[in-house]
Amino acid sequence: MTAPDPARPTTLHSEDHVDHALVWFRRDLRLLENPTWSAATSTASTATALFVLDPALFEAAGHFRQQALVAHLDGLDRMLREYGGRLRIEHGDPVQVVPRVAAELGATVHWNIDTTPYATRRDAAVTSALAAAGAAEPVTHWGTLVHEPGRVLTGKGTLSKVFTPFAKVWDRTDLRPWAEGIGAAEIASEPGEPLPDVAGADDFPGGEVAARARVGDFLDRIDDYLDQRDLPAIDGTSLLSGDLRFGTVSPRELMHVAGDTTDGRRGFVRQLAWRDWYAHLLWQNPGMVRAAIKPDYDKVLWRNDPDEYEAWKRGRTGYPIVDAGMRQLWKTGFMHNRVRMIVGSFLVKDLLIDWRWGERWFRHLLVDADVSQNVGNWQWVAGCGTDAAPYFRVFNPWTQSRKFDPRGEYIRHWVPELAELTGDAVHEPAKAAPLDLAAGGVTLGDTYPHPIVDHAFARDRVLTAYKTALGKI
Ligand SMILES: Cc1cc2nc3c(=O)[nH]c(=O)nc-3n(C[C@H](O)[C@H](O)[C@H](O)COP(=O)(O)OP(=O)(O)OC[C@H]3O[C@@H](n4cnc5c(N)ncnc54)[C@H](O)[C@@H]3O)c2cc1C
Repeated sequence: MTAPDPARPTTLHSEDHVDHALVWFRRDLRLLENPTWSAATSTASTATALFVLDPALFEAAGHFRQQALVAHLDGLDRMLREYGGRLRIEHGDPVQVVPRVAAELGATVHWNIDTTPYATRRDAAVTSALAAAGAAEPVTHWGTLVHEPGRVLTGKGTLSKVFTPFAKVWDRTDLRPWAEGIGAAEIASEPGEPLPDVAGADDFPGGEVAARARVGDFLDRIDDYLDQRDLPAIDGTSLLSGDLRFGTVSPRELMHVAGDTTDGRRGFVRQLAWRDWYAHLLWQNPGMVRAAIKPDYDKVLWRNDPDEYEAWKRGRTGYPIVDAGMRQLWKTGFMHNRVRMIVGSFLVKDLLIDWRWGERWFRHLLVDADVSQNVGNWQWVAGCGTDAAPYFRVFNPWTQSRKFDPRGEYIRHWVPELAELTGDAVHEPAKAAPLDLAAGGVTLGDTYPHPIVDHAFARDRVLTAYKTALGKI
């Protein structure tokens, strides 16, 4: 077999190369701790690293996710250059692109499995197209979760519907061995098409090297994780969800480096179990993307008021903690977990808007948007998922605000028109004394909205709506 010349783009033909692995990268944008890359580079004499930029997915992503993707792909390309290769970018529908490139190279295709229904359908279509073209069956691995679906089961051999028993089994389940290291295959150096131009992508620290630096930063703080993880004003959490989503860090490696020597470390690893659990649930129950896991909850008569939805999306509800979260999301593509729960509860329970509308907005904007995690958490918030918050648990946004942002720092940062309010007024301006509002330069209904709904009234309303749906009244 002729080795490709790394200095020149190559076109390889199946008759020349029978030992070529085409690694289709998707949610695993790293070379280290990546079982697919390890297996492919260890078993083939040449490996091509491919990313297919699917316009349908790219255009559905908000600016910050596009930015992160481009930066991570650039990081993967930099890493490949260190091994003498390049990341080959192709634009188009993977169902056409992957078989075309595989035929061009005479390669066997490898990928890490993704649990979403969209990915499952797409991968089945790619597999059929490869078979129709007479190509070898793709080789698949699990490289994006700690444990793959089907490995963490109850004594009855089923996936637990309750998280705590799942987490207990998850914790003591042996890791299925992964292929490790990077093999000796020559890495193809055809770069393919250019990456899209996304403003700010050059400044985003993308790729696995940057991700490892973020892991290092977090390890300096991890022991305080349990004490700080609910305080949105500080960086008390790992901020690694984007890296987990794009696969620039391996969840298994993260679990190993975190270890279990302190409560903070154990608390953090437990969150990785939540991540696996939602992925396993979706794998087993793809319909949960559209339908409530508990079907009666689909009988709730949502109000779905478009103006209120718009106010929620833009952070103009008159509830400062909600508005702060929605503006953080809009301006950065991230929102703190505690605040995700607060804004989620507010949308579903206070505004009586279908949880799927909230899931849609989050899926568009979040850098870490991941259908399994997003749908699982939205169903948790709405009470309709498995082991979800009970339907009668309605977060009080005022109480949550005082408890988790006691000094109002998070609110002042994201809702600057309230920054000059002192004391408690920042949490609930509608109850503040007129003099305090004036001193802070706030005119309700002008510089900042009145609350769009009365919480006590909304609480009664949603409880009636849920009880009616569940046949409890
Ligand atoms: C309504 C709603 C929607 C959400 N949508 C997403 C989403 O699309 N993608 C996503 O990754 N997370 C989602 N989450 C979960 C959680 O908010 C984020 O994972 C977390 O805020 C990310 O910050 P971090 O990496 O600093 O988290 P850390 O607290 O440091 O947690 C470490 C990792 O554990 C996992 N994790 C943490 N909390 C959860 C959780 N509640 N459920 C599942 N996994 C968790 C994440 O992978 C996270 O990166 C959602 C939560 C809610 C309430």
